[in-house]
Amino acid sequence: MTAPIYMDYNATAPIRTSVIDAVTDAMRVVGNPSSVHAAGRSARKLVEEARTKVAALAGCRIRDVTFCSGGTEANNAAIRGAGAASVIVSAIEHDSALAAAKLAGVPMFVCGVDSDGVINQDQLRALLAESPSPALVSVMLANNETGVIQPVQEIAQIVHEFGACLHTDAVQAAGKINIDFNALGADYLTLSSHKLGGPQGVGAIITAPTAPLAPLIAGGGQELARRSGTENVAGIVGFGVAALEAMDDLGEVPRIAAMRDRFEAAVSDHTNTACIIGRAVPRTPNTSCVAMPGVKGETQVMHFDLNGICLSSGSACSSGKVKVSHVLSAMGYDEETAYASIRVSLGRMTQDSDVNALITAWKSLYGRTTDRPIA
Ligand code: PLP
Repeated sequence: MTAPIYMDYNATAPIRTSVIDAVTDAMRVVGNPSSVHAAGRSARKLVEEARTKVAALAGCRIRDVTFCSGGTEANNAAIRGAGAASVIVSAIEHDSALAAAKLAGVPMFVCGVDSDGVINQDQLRALLAESPSPALVSVMLANNETGVIQPVQEIAQIVHEFGACLHTDAVQAAGKINIDFNALGADYLTLSSHKLGGPQGVGAIITAPTAPLAPLIAGGGQELARRSGTENVAGIVGFGVAALEAMDDLGEVPRIAAMRDRFEAAVSDHTNTACIIGRAVPRTPNTSCVAMPGVKGETQVMHFDLNGICLSSGSACSSGKVKVSHVLSAMGYDEETAYASIRVSLGRMTQDSDVNALITAWKSLYGRTTDRPIA
Protein backbone atom coordinates (compact mmCIF):
# COMPACT_ATOMS: atom_id res chain seq x y z
CA MET A 1 0.00 0.00 0.00
CA THR A 2 1.36 3.43 -0.89
CA ALA A 3 1.38 6.13 1.79
CA PRO A 4 -1.37 8.74 1.40
CA ILE A 5 -0.51 12.11 -0.06
CA TYR A 6 -0.68 14.49 2.89
CA MET A 7 -2.08 17.93 2.07
CA ASP A 8 -3.36 19.01 5.48
CA TYR A 9 -0.33 20.87 6.88
CA ASN A 10 -2.55 23.57 8.40
CA ALA A 11 -4.14 20.90 10.61
CA THR A 12 -0.76 19.53 11.63
CA ALA A 13 2.56 19.15 9.84
CA PRO A 14 4.39 15.83 9.65
CA ILE A 15 6.86 15.67 12.51
CA ARG A 16 10.49 16.11 11.46
CA THR A 17 12.90 13.19 11.86
CA SER A 18 15.38 15.52 13.56
CA VAL A 19 12.65 16.44 16.05
CA ILE A 20 11.90 12.80 16.84
CA ASP A 21 15.62 12.24 17.48
CA ALA A 22 15.96 15.33 19.67
CA VAL A 23 12.79 14.52 21.65
CA THR A 24 13.95 10.95 22.18
CA ASP A 25 17.34 12.14 23.46
CA ALA A 26 15.69 14.72 25.71
CA MET A 27 13.43 12.09 27.25
CA ARG A 28 16.55 10.28 28.42
CA VAL A 29 17.67 13.33 30.38
CA VAL A 30 16.61 12.93 34.00
CA GLY A 31 15.79 16.10 35.86
CA ASN A 32 13.21 18.72 36.66
CA PRO A 33 14.33 22.04 35.17
CA SER A 34 13.46 23.73 38.48
CA SER A 35 15.84 21.53 40.48
CA VAL A 36 19.16 23.15 41.34
CA HIS A 37 21.28 19.98 41.23
CA ALA A 38 23.22 18.78 38.19
CA ALA A 39 20.35 16.73 36.77
CA GLY A 40 17.98 19.68 37.04
CA ARG A 41 20.53 21.96 35.44
CA SER A 42 20.82 19.59 32.46
CA ALA A 43 17.08 19.75 31.90
CA ARG A 44 17.09 23.54 32.36
CA LYS A 45 19.86 23.88 29.75
CA LEU A 46 17.69 22.04 27.21
CA VAL A 47 14.71 24.30 27.90
CA GLU A 48 16.80 27.47 27.62
CA GLU A 49 18.47 26.36 24.40
CA ALA A 50 15.02 25.76 22.92
CA ARG A 51 13.85 29.17 24.14
CA THR A 52 16.69 30.82 22.21
CA LYS A 53 15.61 29.02 19.03
CA VAL A 54 11.93 29.92 19.41
CA ALA A 55 12.89 33.55 20.10
CA ALA A 56 14.86 33.55 16.85
CA LEU A 57 11.80 32.29 14.96
CA ALA A 58 9.58 34.97 16.51
CA GLY A 59 12.12 37.79 16.32
CA CYS A 60 11.74 38.60 20.01
CA ARG A 61 13.84 38.72 23.19
CA ILE A 62 14.61 35.32 24.68
CA ARG A 63 13.03 36.17 28.04
CA ASP A 64 9.76 37.12 26.33
CA VAL A 65 9.07 33.52 25.26
CA THR A 66 6.77 31.64 27.65
CA PHE A 67 6.31 27.96 26.89
CA CYS A 68 2.85 26.45 27.25
CA SER A 69 0.75 23.58 25.90
CA GLY A 70 0.07 24.97 22.42
CA GLY A 71 -1.76 27.55 20.37
CA THR A 72 -5.07 27.11 22.17
CA GLU A 73 -3.54 27.81 25.56
CA ALA A 74 -1.44 30.70 24.27
CA ASN A 75 -4.52 32.37 22.78
CA ASN A 76 -6.38 31.91 26.07
CA ALA A 77 -3.40 33.18 28.07
CA ALA A 78 -3.11 36.42 26.09
CA ILE A 79 -6.78 37.18 25.65
CA ARG A 80 -7.82 36.35 29.20
CA GLY A 81 -4.60 37.39 30.92
CA ALA A 82 -3.99 40.83 29.44
CA GLY A 83 -6.14 42.51 32.09
CA ALA A 84 -8.11 44.45 29.46
CA ALA A 85 -11.41 46.21 30.15
CA SER A 86 -12.83 44.90 26.84
CA VAL A 87 -11.85 42.47 24.10
CA ILE A 88 -12.18 43.04 20.34
CA VAL A 89 -11.67 39.99 18.13
CA SER A 90 -11.80 39.71 14.37
CA ALA A 91 -14.66 37.57 13.06
CA ILE A 92 -12.25 35.10 11.44
CA GLU A 93 -10.18 34.16 14.49
CA HIS A 94 -9.55 30.54 15.40
CA ASP A 95 -12.18 29.05 17.72
CA SER A 96 -9.71 29.13 20.61
CA ALA A 97 -9.43 32.92 20.37
CA LEU A 98 -13.19 33.43 19.96
CA ALA A 99 -13.96 31.16 22.92
CA ALA A 100 -11.28 32.83 25.07
CA ALA A 101 -12.77 36.25 24.29
CA LYS A 102 -16.18 35.03 25.46
CA LEU A 103 -14.65 33.79 28.72
CA ALA A 104 -12.59 36.93 29.38
CA GLY A 105 -15.34 38.33 31.62
CA VAL A 106 -15.34 41.78 29.99
CA PRO A 107 -17.44 43.19 27.12
CA MET A 108 -16.58 41.48 23.83
CA PHE A 109 -16.86 43.01 20.35
CA VAL A 110 -16.40 41.37 16.96
CA CYS A 111 -14.78 43.23 14.08
CA GLY A 112 -15.79 42.22 10.56
CA VAL A 113 -13.68 41.50 7.49
CA ASP A 114 -14.15 42.36 3.82
CA SER A 115 -14.93 39.87 1.06
CA ASP A 116 -11.22 39.00 0.81
CA GLY A 117 -11.09 38.22 4.52
CA VAL A 118 -9.08 41.31 5.48
CA ILE A 119 -10.08 43.15 8.66
CA ASN A 120 -12.22 46.25 8.29
CA GLN A 121 -9.99 48.97 9.73
CA ASP A 122 -12.75 51.61 9.87
CA GLN A 123 -14.89 49.29 11.95
CA LEU A 124 -11.92 48.50 14.16
CA ARG A 125 -11.42 52.22 14.85
CA ALA A 126 -15.12 52.64 15.63
CA LEU A 127 -15.07 49.67 18.02
CA LEU A 128 -11.93 50.97 19.73
CA ALA A 129 -13.61 54.35 20.19
CA GLU A 130 -16.69 52.86 21.85
CA SER A 131 -15.25 49.93 23.86
CA PRO A 132 -14.20 50.26 27.51
CA SER A 133 -10.51 51.16 27.73
CA PRO A 134 -7.95 49.66 27.71
CA ALA A 135 -9.06 47.14 25.12
CA LEU A 136 -7.26 44.01 23.98
CA VAL A 137 -7.55 43.45 20.23
CA SER A 138 -6.93 39.99 18.77
CA VAL A 139 -6.27 39.73 15.03
CA MET A 140 -4.53 36.69 13.59
CA LEU A 141 -1.50 37.06 11.34
CA ALA A 142 -2.63 34.35 8.88
CA ASN A 143 -5.90 32.50 8.68
CA ASN A 144 -5.97 28.72 9.02
CA GLU A 145 -8.72 28.18 6.41
CA THR A 146 -7.82 30.66 3.69
CA GLY A 147 -4.20 31.59 4.42
CA VAL A 148 -5.16 35.29 4.15
CA ILE A 149 -2.54 37.49 5.84
CA GLN A 150 -3.64 40.50 7.88
CA PRO A 151 -1.74 43.83 7.79
CA VAL A 152 -0.81 43.41 11.45
CA GLN A 153 1.71 46.25 11.45
CA GLU A 154 -0.99 48.74 10.36
CA ILE A 155 -3.46 47.24 12.81
CA ALA A 156 -0.93 47.61 15.65
CA GLN A 157 -0.61 51.33 14.90
CA ILE A 158 -4.36 51.84 15.07
CA VAL A 159 -4.66 49.77 18.24
CA HIS A 160 -1.90 51.71 19.99
CA GLU A 161 -3.39 55.08 18.94
CA PHE A 162 -6.31 54.13 21.17
CA GLY A 163 -4.09 53.00 24.07
CA ALA A 164 -5.14 49.39 23.50
CA CYS A 165 -2.99 46.24 23.23
CA LEU A 166 -2.73 43.85 20.26
CA HIS A 167 -2.55 40.07 20.30
CA THR A 168 -1.79 38.24 17.07
CA ASP A 169 -2.20 34.52 16.56
CA ALA A 170 0.78 33.59 14.38
CA VAL A 171 0.19 29.82 14.52
CA GLN A 172 -0.45 29.58 10.77
CA ALA A 173 2.10 32.20 9.76
CA ALA A 174 5.16 30.75 11.47
CA GLY A 175 7.36 28.82 9.09
CA LYS A 176 5.39 30.10 6.09
CA ILE A 177 6.26 33.79 6.22
CA ASN A 178 8.99 35.63 8.10
CA ILE A 179 7.89 36.76 11.57
CA ASP A 180 9.42 39.74 13.32
CA PHE A 181 7.61 40.37 16.60
CA ASN A 182 9.23 43.76 17.12
CA ALA A 183 8.49 44.98 13.60
CA LEU A 184 4.89 43.74 13.79
CA GLY A 185 4.33 45.91 16.85
CA ALA A 186 2.05 43.40 18.58
CA ASP A 187 2.04 43.07 22.37
CA TYR A 188 1.30 39.33 22.39
CA LEU A 189 1.94 36.62 19.78
CA THR A 190 0.90 32.96 19.72
CA LEU A 191 2.96 30.07 18.33
CA SER A 192 2.26 26.33 18.12
CA SER A 193 4.95 23.70 17.63
CA HIS A 194 3.02 21.09 15.67
CA LYS A 195 2.29 23.37 12.73
CA LEU A 196 6.06 23.60 12.22
CA GLY A 197 6.84 19.90 12.27
CA GLY A 198 7.40 19.84 16.02
CA PRO A 199 5.52 17.80 18.59
CA GLN A 200 1.84 18.40 19.37
CA GLY A 201 0.92 19.80 22.78
CA VAL A 202 3.56 22.52 23.02
CA GLY A 203 3.57 26.17 22.04
CA ALA A 204 4.52 29.61 23.23
CA ILE A 205 3.07 32.95 24.10
CA ILE A 206 5.38 35.84 23.23
CA THR A 207 4.92 39.04 25.25
CA ALA A 208 6.29 42.52 24.68
CA PRO A 209 8.43 43.73 27.60
CA THR A 210 5.65 46.04 28.85
CA ALA A 211 2.70 43.69 28.25
CA PRO A 212 0.96 42.45 31.41
CA LEU A 213 0.15 38.73 31.58
CA ALA A 214 -1.83 37.42 34.52
CA PRO A 215 -1.18 33.67 34.59
CA LEU A 216 -3.93 31.44 33.33
CA ILE A 217 -2.31 28.56 35.20
CA ALA A 218 -0.94 29.39 38.64
CA GLY A 219 1.21 27.18 40.82
CA GLY A 220 4.94 26.75 41.30
CA GLY A 221 5.86 29.92 39.40
CA GLN A 222 7.65 28.35 36.43
CA GLU A 223 8.19 30.38 33.27
CA LEU A 224 8.74 33.60 35.30
CA ALA A 225 5.38 32.88 36.99
CA ARG A 226 3.62 33.45 33.68
CA ARG A 227 2.74 29.75 33.29
CA SER A 228 3.14 27.34 36.15
CA GLY A 229 3.68 23.60 35.85
CA THR A 230 6.81 21.54 35.28
CA GLU A 231 7.94 22.27 31.74
CA ASN A 232 7.36 19.68 29.02
CA VAL A 233 11.11 19.40 28.49
CA ALA A 234 11.10 16.91 25.62
CA GLY A 235 8.26 18.72 23.83
CA ILE A 236 10.00 22.07 24.25
CA VAL A 237 13.25 20.63 22.86
CA GLY A 238 11.34 19.34 19.83
CA PHE A 239 9.67 22.73 19.39
CA GLY A 240 13.11 24.40 19.40
CA VAL A 241 14.46 22.09 16.71
CA ALA A 242 11.33 22.56 14.60
CA ALA A 243 11.53 26.35 15.00
CA LEU A 244 15.09 26.49 13.67
CA GLU A 245 14.38 24.18 10.76
CA ALA A 246 11.18 26.03 9.92
CA MET A 247 13.25 29.20 9.53
CA ASP A 248 15.60 27.41 7.15
CA ASP A 249 12.58 26.08 5.26
CA LEU A 250 11.52 29.62 4.34
CA GLY A 251 13.80 29.07 1.34
CA GLU A 252 11.23 26.49 0.18
CA VAL A 253 8.47 29.10 -0.01
CA PRO A 254 8.77 29.81 -3.77
CA ARG A 255 8.61 26.08 -4.57
CA ILE A 256 5.54 25.57 -2.39
CA ALA A 257 3.82 28.70 -3.68
CA ALA A 258 4.44 27.57 -7.27
CA MET A 259 2.76 24.22 -6.57
CA ARG A 260 -0.22 25.89 -4.89
CA ASP A 261 -0.53 28.35 -7.79
CA ARG A 262 -0.32 25.52 -10.32
CA PHE A 263 -3.24 23.75 -8.62
CA GLU A 264 -5.30 26.93 -8.61
CA ALA A 265 -4.45 27.69 -12.26
CA ALA A 266 -5.53 24.16 -13.22
CA VAL A 267 -8.85 24.67 -11.41
CA SER A 268 -9.56 28.00 -13.03
CA ASP A 269 -8.46 26.80 -16.47
CA HIS A 270 -10.87 23.87 -16.10
CA THR A 271 -13.92 25.86 -15.05
CA ASN A 272 -14.94 29.37 -14.16
CA THR A 273 -17.55 28.16 -11.67
CA ALA A 274 -15.10 27.20 -8.93
CA CYS A 275 -14.29 29.87 -6.39
CA ILE A 276 -10.76 30.34 -5.10
CA ILE A 277 -11.18 32.12 -1.80
CA GLY A 278 -8.85 34.98 -0.81
CA ARG A 279 -6.91 34.76 -4.07
CA ALA A 280 -6.84 38.54 -4.59
CA VAL A 281 -4.89 39.35 -1.41
CA PRO A 282 -1.62 38.20 0.20
CA ARG A 283 -1.88 34.66 1.54
CA THR A 284 0.45 32.12 3.07
CA PRO A 285 2.17 30.29 0.19
CA ASN A 286 0.90 26.82 1.04
CA THR A 287 -2.85 27.32 1.44
CA SER A 288 -5.68 27.11 -1.05
CA CYS A 289 -9.37 27.27 -0.15
CA VAL A 290 -11.52 26.25 -3.11
CA ALA A 291 -15.28 25.87 -3.44
CA MET A 292 -16.60 23.39 -5.99
CA PRO A 293 -20.19 24.47 -6.52
CA GLY A 294 -22.80 21.80 -5.85
CA VAL A 295 -20.52 19.39 -3.99
CA LYS A 296 -20.40 19.37 -0.20
CA GLY A 297 -16.97 19.72 1.37
CA GLU A 298 -17.30 16.40 3.22
CA THR A 299 -18.17 14.61 -0.03
CA GLN A 300 -15.04 16.09 -1.57
CA VAL A 301 -12.90 15.09 1.42
CA MET A 302 -14.15 11.50 1.05
CA HIS A 303 -13.47 11.53 -2.69
CA PHE A 304 -9.90 12.76 -2.18
CA ASP A 305 -9.41 10.25 0.63
CA LEU A 306 -10.47 7.44 -1.71
CA ASN A 307 -7.89 8.79 -4.13
CA GLY A 308 -5.20 8.67 -1.44
CA ILE A 309 -5.15 12.40 -0.67
CA CYS A 310 -5.65 13.85 2.85
CA LEU A 311 -7.13 17.34 3.01
CA SER A 312 -9.87 19.21 4.95
CA SER A 313 -13.26 20.65 4.23
CA GLY A 314 -14.06 24.25 5.07
CA SER A 315 -17.01 23.23 7.18
CA ALA A 316 -16.49 21.41 10.45
CA CYS A 317 -18.41 18.58 12.04
CA SER A 318 -19.20 19.08 15.69
CA SER A 319 -21.62 16.96 17.75
CA GLY A 320 -22.74 15.14 14.60
CA LYS A 321 -23.83 18.37 12.89
CA VAL A 322 -21.99 19.99 10.01
CA LYS A 323 -21.25 23.60 10.88
CA VAL A 324 -20.60 26.10 8.15
CA SER A 325 -17.23 27.86 8.37
CA HIS A 326 -17.50 31.09 10.40
CA VAL A 327 -14.55 32.40 8.38
CA LEU A 328 -16.27 32.06 5.00
CA SER A 329 -19.55 33.37 6.46
CA ALA A 330 -17.72 36.45 7.78
CA MET A 331 -16.31 36.99 4.27
CA GLY A 332 -19.87 37.10 2.97
CA TYR A 333 -19.98 33.73 1.19
CA ASP A 334 -23.42 32.15 1.05
CA GLU A 335 -24.00 28.83 2.82
CA GLU A 336 -23.98 26.89 -0.45
CA THR A 337 -20.46 28.08 -1.33
CA ALA A 338 -19.17 27.77 2.23
CA TYR A 339 -20.43 24.17 2.47
CA ALA A 340 -18.78 23.37 -0.87
CA SER A 341 -15.27 24.44 0.13
CA ILE A 342 -12.14 22.44 0.81
CA ARG A 343 -8.77 23.47 2.16
CA VAL A 344 -5.60 22.21 0.55
CA SER A 345 -2.50 22.95 2.62
CA LEU A 346 0.88 21.94 1.25
CA GLY A 347 4.23 21.71 3.00
CA ARG A 348 7.86 20.81 2.92
CA MET A 349 7.32 17.19 1.83
CA THR A 350 4.87 18.00 -1.00
CA GLN A 351 6.12 17.07 -4.46
CA ASP A 352 5.02 18.10 -7.95
CA SER A 353 3.67 14.59 -8.54
CA ASP A 354 1.39 15.03 -5.49
CA VAL A 355 -0.04 18.17 -7.03
CA ASN A 356 -0.59 16.30 -10.31
CA ALA A 357 -2.61 13.69 -8.38
CA LEU A 358 -4.58 16.45 -6.64
CA ILE A 359 -5.44 18.13 -9.95
CA THR A 360 -6.50 14.83 -11.53
CA ALA A 361 -8.70 13.94 -8.55
CA TRP A 362 -10.24 17.42 -8.46
CA LYS A 363 -11.09 17.34 -12.17
CA SER A 364 -12.54 13.84 -11.97
CA LEU A 365 -14.89 14.84 -9.14
CA TYR A 366 -15.87 18.05 -10.90
CA GLY A 367 -16.56 16.13 -14.11
CA ARG A 368 -18.79 13.66 -12.32
CA THR A 369 -20.84 15.97 -10.20
CA THR A 370 -21.17 19.31 -11.86
CA ASP A 371 -24.69 20.37 -12.84
CA ARG A 372 -26.14 17.91 -10.35
CA PRO A 373 -27.99 19.02 -7.25
CA ILE A 374 -25.79 19.39 -4.15
CA ALA A 375 -24.37 15.97 -3.25
N1 PLP B 1 -4.68 29.17 16.08
C1 PLP B 1 -4.75 28.79 14.83
C2 PLP B 1 -4.82 29.82 13.75
C3 PLP B 1 -4.77 27.43 14.49
O1 PLP B 1 -4.86 27.05 13.22
C4 PLP B 1 -4.71 26.47 15.55
C5 PLP B 1 -4.77 25.03 15.25
O2 PLP B 1 -5.41 24.60 14.33
C6 PLP B 1 -4.62 26.94 16.87
C7 PLP B 1 -4.61 28.29 17.10
C8 PLP B 1 -4.55 25.98 18.01
O3 PLP B 1 -3.25 25.47 18.16
P1 PLP B 1 -3.02 24.11 18.98
O4 PLP B 1 -3.46 22.99 18.11
O5 PLP B 1 -1.54 24.10 19.23
O6 PLP B 1 -3.80 24.22 20.24
